Amino acid sequence: MNVLIINAGSSSLKYQLMNPETGEVSAKGLCERIGIDGRLNHKVGEEKVVKDIPMPTHSEAIAATLEILQDAEVGVIKSVDEIDAVGHRVLHGGMEFFASCVINDDVIAAIKKCIPLGPLHNPANLMGIEACQAVMPKTPQVAVFDTAFHMTMPPKAYRYAIPTEYYENDSIRRYGFHGTSHKYVAKRTAELIGKKEFKMVNCHLGNGSSMAAIKDGKCQDTTMGLSPLAGVPMGTRSGDIDACVVQFICNKYGMSVDDCLNMLNKKSGVLALSGVSSDFRDLEDGAKKGDENCALARDKFCYEVAKYVGAYAAALNGIDVLTFTAGVGENDTAVRAAVCEYLSFMGVKIDPELNSKRGKEMKISTPDSTVEVWVVPTNEELMIAQDTAELVK
Ligand code: ADP
Repeated sequence: MNVLIINAGSSSLKYQLMNPETGEVSAKGLCERIGIDGRLNHKVGEEKVVKDIPMPTHSEAIAATLEILQDAEVGVIKSVDEIDAVGHRVLHGGMEFFASCVINDDVIAAIKKCIPLGPLHNPANLMGIEACQAVMPKTPQVAVFDTAFHMTMPPKAYRYAIPTEYYENDSIRRYGFHGTSHKYVAKRTAELIGKKEFKMVNCHLGNGSSMAAIKDGKCQDTTMGLSPLAGVPMGTRSGDIDACVVQFICNKYGMSVDDCLNMLNKKSGVLALSGVSSDFRDLEDGAKKGDENCALARDKFCYEVAKYVGAYAAALNGIDVLTFTAGVGENDTAVRAAVCEYLSFMGVKIDPELNSKRGKEMKISTPDSTVEVWVVPTNEELMIAQDTAELVK
């Protein structure tokens, strides 16, 4: 079986052609500068091709993707008929979607209804879906939502303590994101430890970071909220912040709320604290050279991650497993060590030798640790392909 995975952004579109049974990726690529000029970056094995192709809209990007997938030299299929289904990553499913689903007119209408909650991403996701429907009308399409995994949270976790009308009339509540990644890691961890019933905290630490408290494979709480701005500090996002900071800055500097939110999303986080970079590798280099701001940015990040693990251990009445995933979680051994050091009070203990490995699926805790600590590299694309295959079968 071949599943085409599409992740459409406002000016870009990422694709992968994957076998959902084996996880094997036969080709992948990125269409960028959609609406500007258009460039296709295609990769088959180690071979890379870059082509400038006009892409006024997402339709041309999809057409270029299908064309290169069938190319005589760098293609991997002979006809579009070899694509059995398309899985689309969709950012915000609001209160409409609790799971992935096969796309029909009602699903499109419901994704449109969620645009106020995901104003930047949902319109782009819809353009990707509509472009695929136009060129592959007979191929089933599936929507996989970043928010769906978190819909098992109880009201005490998802409600904000603000007047009920905003929840009832406007669906203002905690949703959470990175759901596909949290779901993949929860599922994979269950396989790795050979149990279905256990309590875990998953730390998805990348450029964007979020954490999830998960019991028996179901999300109980998560750090991101109505939008991905909430939770731990990130590459360029502030994470949790007192709403009065927005009021103060807007009033003092005559800034609009939108401009202030742009600052909190794009110019904050460890980038702001360090004054150097949003990339944790640069911060590590800086800290090693004695840059105190780089050291502070990293310590603040680890401190906030550890605080949430503590909070979620309380929420779940204890945890059995702690998992690290995504760019920082999989590779930054010093971040993992620092987070676990903060958690030594609850008996979390990792083996420095095991923890020295990067990007490998493995247990890094010592036999006497009260909590098993694992590194589980995430695979959102595989999760999308598996959900898609399951739904269209
Ligand atoms: P995104 O949220 O964009 O998907 P990723 O999960 O790919 O982000 O994570 C990207 C971040 O991972 C980079 O900003 C970088 O800080 C970090 N990272 C990647 N590789 C390493 C490494 N070897 N050591 C430390 N940090 C790393």
